[in-house]
Amino acid sequence: MPETIIAANWKMNKATAEAMEFARGLKKALLQKPVAATIIVAPSFTSLAAVAAELNNSPVRLSAQNMHAVEKGAFTGEISGAMLKDAGCRYCIIGHSERRTLFGEKDSFINAKIAAALSYDLRPIFCIGETLAEREANATFSVISRQLKEGLNNIPAGDMKHIVVAYEPVWAIGTGKTATPEQAQEAHIFIRNLLGEIYGKSIADAVSIIYGGSVTANNIGVLMAQKDINGALVGSASLDLSSFLNIINFK
Ligand code: PEP
Repeated sequence: MPETIIAANWKMNKATAEAMEFARGLKKALLQKPVAATIIVAPSFTSLAAVAAELNNSPVRLSAQNMHAVEKGAFTGEISGAMLKDAGCRYCIIGHSERRTLFGEKDSFINAKIAAALSYDLRPIFCIGETLAEREANATFSVISRQLKEGLNNIPAGDMKHIVVAYEPVWAIGTGKTATPEQAQEAHIFIRNLLGEIYGKSIADAVSIIYGGSVTANNIGVLMAQKDINGALVGSASLDLSSFLNIINFK
């Protein structure tokens, strides 16, 4: 059975004091009322160490939103997996559509980042998904197939237990348009079958494939009722603690 994972991607929001306050509230709520899911928060780089300290002795895990593929060197403005590990991260979001579209990240670079994250014992939350134009051109499955295969190029089967795949249709991110549960399930089963072709069915069946794209407390239940949706990557609706608590307590 894949692990259920719900992750908050705060993007470029919340300075340290606000991030710490959220983390404190989330920790308190989960210690009072645990949920049957792994809960992750992904603050900005500048808040990571402070949030890690706040989350000490809590079930909440820390993620970064991005990393570079190499360990160190002349890469002004970048951050390495070693640094994220040092700051207390256990996960790193890799290949988010905003990185792909706004910062020109290509599948080969994303692949190098995934390999680097694994080498630092960071679990990649590997994002894939089609744009609206690609969906309308009936290219959804060829796009996610290319992103998945190239992103996982040369990643050994033994590492798949550390990788979380996030299906995030770009047209649903931050737009208020959610994929219908059926559209999401169709993409998730496609991804699982493709993982099965690459790595074999038993490995594919254990991979957590989470959905992202305008997830809220109102739609998480119907999405999670789909067989191959194992959790959610939440942007906008994760910024407010009570909204995020409603999402993680969807049952
Ligand atoms: C995201 O950025 O990963 C995301 C899913 O954002 P939102 O929930 O705001 O659509």
